[in-house]
Amino acid sequence: MRLTAHGAARNVTGTKHLLSVGPSRVLLDCGLVQGHRAESERRNRVFPFDPSSVHAVLLTHAHLDHSGNLPSLVRAGFRGPVLATAATADLTGILLRDSARLQEHDAEYLNARRRRSDEPVVRPLYTEADVEAALPLLSPVEYDRPVAAAHGLTVTFRDAGHILGSAMLEIEAREGGRRSLVVFTGDLGRVGMPILRDPYRPANADVLVTESTYGGRLHAPVEQARERLARLVSRVASRGGKVIVPAFAVGRTQALLFELHALVGEGRVPRLPVFVDSPLAVGATDLFVRHPECFDEEMLALVRRHDDPLGLGKVTYVRAADESRALVRRRGPMVVVSASGMCEGGRVLHHLRQAVGNRRNAVLLVGFQAEGTLGARLAAGEDRVRILGETHAVRAEVAAFDEFSAHADARGLTAFATGFRRPPGLSVVVHGNEENALALGRRLSSSGLARVVVPFDGESIEF
Ligand code: ZN
Repeated sequence: MRLTAHGAARNVTGTKHLLSVGPSRVLLDCGLVQGHRAESERRNRVFPFDPSSVHAVLLTHAHLDHSGNLPSLVRAGFRGPVLATAATADLTGILLRDSARLQEHDAEYLNARRRRSDEPVVRPLYTEADVEAALPLLSPVEYDRPVAAAHGLTVTFRDAGHILGSAMLEIEAREGGRRSLVVFTGDLGRVGMPILRDPYRPANADVLVTESTYGGRLHAPVEQARERLARLVSRVASRGGKVIVPAFAVGRTQALLFELHALVGEGRVPRLPVFVDSPLAVGATDLFVRHPECFDEEMLALVRRHDDPLGLGKVTYVRAADESRALVRRRGPMVVVSASGMCEGGRVLHHLRQAVGNRRNAVLLVGFQAEGTLGARLAAGEDRVRILGETHAVRAEVAAFDEFSAHADARGLTAFATGFRRPPGLSVVVHGNEENALALGRRLSSSGLARVVVPFDGESIEF
């Protein structure tokens, strides 16, 4: 039995782990590599294995760094099923269509310039047609019900508490007379967060494959984050500025809107216009409401008591492109949520281009920012950044909040890894930059776990 980390090894994007058991091969996630443009282009276009030899993809959740390269995989010859929970399957459809539109749009925008200067034109990584060819392969599965993924491989999707539909995988692998239980966290959520159920607690694992996004960091308590958010929004509102929040329209956006709605209700921030600028916002919000099987008890109780527990009715959704352009020109105070979360594409770039040069405004980063992305440059406090091919001085306030993170921190990840009744004989640490992956590796080793491996990209581990 062998696991090979093709992506998200000492890195956070492009999750693609190939699990080989006898003649069977399944791919755990098929994410997009994001960051340095030329390097990610190459890695997204060329797979280091033959896609037609893979029997199935087991998809943990819809975030693009886990699902975003499925259209390329299918175009390169993959024909098996993509197993995912029903909510993930729905959300992945929305996300991939949006991703294709963004890539086609960004390519057009860049090419308009390149044609003027006689540079070679760029091709989008995939188009909406590629997405439509990939979506029929999505096969929804239920939480907690074992399904056969390939010969000798049975998988059970368990709640990961990360985003709508997210799952960790419990995989039973059988080869000859041997049996091995592999647990892959996908992205592991946090205990006690609003809206979604807490992560599942598997009893046993022989092999643990764990994410490590915040493997070396601790999140501040949520109440502290609420206080920081209240102060930031009030401060920007009082100077008539805009708060630009780069985030995808589903997931963390609902959590943030939930918090903002609560703060307004408590009188801790002034009531100010909130816009979600996304061509798919309405569909995405409907989808959220359509999957109550993912909600926790508190959220279900809220849903029973109110028509609109997330305060979504008070938010203005902007779908049309001309309305989006008008919104970019609109003066504050206001809050604008727009994708992408790492500022790597999408409408948020137009908001940032307009807003970063003005001291009245603020950029609020609520997700993890992968190295090399515009989001990471802003978070690092760079005073000049390139946006859509132009250099802009950064004068707006930039705030990065880990506290609304949908990822467990170092303590949560360690508690998960050391909480098995039968501790894993092998722990593989993936999905974290080098600093965080190595930090979690050290924590796991010093907690007494045997054989902890932090693989390099392309490294295979036998077990
Ligand atoms: Zn994720």
